[in-house]
Amino acid sequence: MSRVQIAIIGGGLVGASLALALQAGARERQWKIVLIEPYAPGDSYQPSYDARASALSYGSQLIYQQLGVWSSIAPRAEAIHDIHISDRGRFAATRISATAEQVPALGYVVENAWLGHCLWAALDSDIVEWRCPARVEKMRTLDKGYRLYLDDDSSLDCDLAILADGGRSGLREQLGIYAQHTPYGQTALISNISSSLPHQGVAFERFTEAGPMALLPLPENRSVLIWTREPNEAQRLYNLADHEFLQELQACFGYRLGALQQVGSRHLYPLSLVQSREQVRAHLVVLGNAAHSLHPVAGQGYNLSLRDSMALADCLLASPHTPGDLSTLQRYQHMQQFDQDLTIGFSDRVTRLFSNGKPLLAGGRHLGLLGLDLVPAAKHWFARQAMGLGVQNTQDIG
Ligand SMILES: Cc1cc2nc3c(=O)[nH]c(=O)nc-3n(C[C@H](O)[C@H](O)[C@H](O)COP(=O)(O)OP(=O)(O)OC[C@H]3O[C@@H](n4cnc5c(N)ncnc54)[C@H](O)[C@@H]3O)c2cc1C
Repeated sequence: MSRVQIAIIGGGLVGASLALALQAGARERQWKIVLIEPYAPGDSYQPSYDARASALSYGSQLIYQQLGVWSSIAPRAEAIHDIHISDRGRFAATRISATAEQVPALGYVVENAWLGHCLWAALDSDIVEWRCPARVEKMRTLDKGYRLYLDDDSSLDCDLAILADGGRSGLREQLGIYAQHTPYGQTALISNISSSLPHQGVAFERFTEAGPMALLPLPENRSVLIWTREPNEAQRLYNLADHEFLQELQACFGYRLGALQQVGSRHLYPLSLVQSREQVRAHLVVLGNAAHSLHPVAGQGYNLSLRDSMALADCLLASPHTPGDLSTLQRYQHMQQFDQDLTIGFSDRVTRLFSNGKPLLAGGRHLGLLGLDLVPAAKHWFARQAMGLGVQNTQDIG
């Protein structure tokens, strides 16, 4: 029976980022890390690296720089120089700019497939062993760790198991860890769009009575669309012919990017706020979407999980104990609690406020947008939160 210090269940964006954050320290400590993932790189279907793109905050870019992988991500990352926030049917709009915030970019948009490719390529197989394709089917507690049962009939013992399966496998439930699901009653429709005018590095966030939408800049003058609608309406939009879809999108978004010309394949994601009631136990951490899954319109979910991963790696590498030690894991949870509460609260409040057509709330949002433009401190606070710098300053990360 083989035994390793750390087994990461799920080689998605979060599992792979944690492995990278641990890699150098693990080499010094002669720890062995195993990353278990059902979908091999290059497989045509990989749930984490599908057609989606992610808005990486400025803080996340600094983290990747620190991990030495930003130079390979950068050639296919599009910088966000401005965020334009507007409210359909009202004149209120606000703009957050990198120049005003004195940063090179507010964030970057990267296709998940590319990000995954860069993370996987940066892992050293002498330290991080891939078990791929393989799926963990069952977990059993041991005196000092966990035994993982894989679908290739092998098993593996570890001192620390990281559950980074996106909450998809049922393992969290198998372990008796309850997760609270709060459905938003919305589905996100995702697609890539091209337009007649260049996006010039502007990310558009637009709030409508039927739900929020975002168009984020991608390389080659494409933009990624995140359009949230009530589920039946999202399904209807999904089923439209391309030209009908573009017509409806144009009517909702307007002409800030000129004529919307081409739409790629469309994907639907039903949206809920999911929060695991437990994130650490002795010899176990629940991480990434398995720990908290957020509404995508504020672009915070992965950025938060990346900060969690860095904090977890720091705690594990600074601890005099073996990786499964409960006090070390509790220290990690304590360190990240404030960031998680702040980010989840921010993302949830922004989504609810800007998804609501009720006159009082819509009026508040109108004032909110005007207020954001008029009160520089409020705008600066919003910008820092969106940049992933809400609870830390750039020196802390860089
Ligand atoms: C439409 C949409 C847009 C988004 N946009 C943004 C954005 O712009 N910015 C941002 O910060 N966040 C964004 N997010 C959130 C972001 O996508 C998630 O935070 C991120 O994907 C979570 O990654 P993860 O690795 O935890 O989970 P996942 O991406 O779900 O990966 C889990 C991995 O575990 C593997 N796995 C599953 N079961 C098992 C098993 N039994 N054994 C082994 N492995 C297993 C899967 O194959 C997968 O590779 C968005 C989310 C959505 C839905």
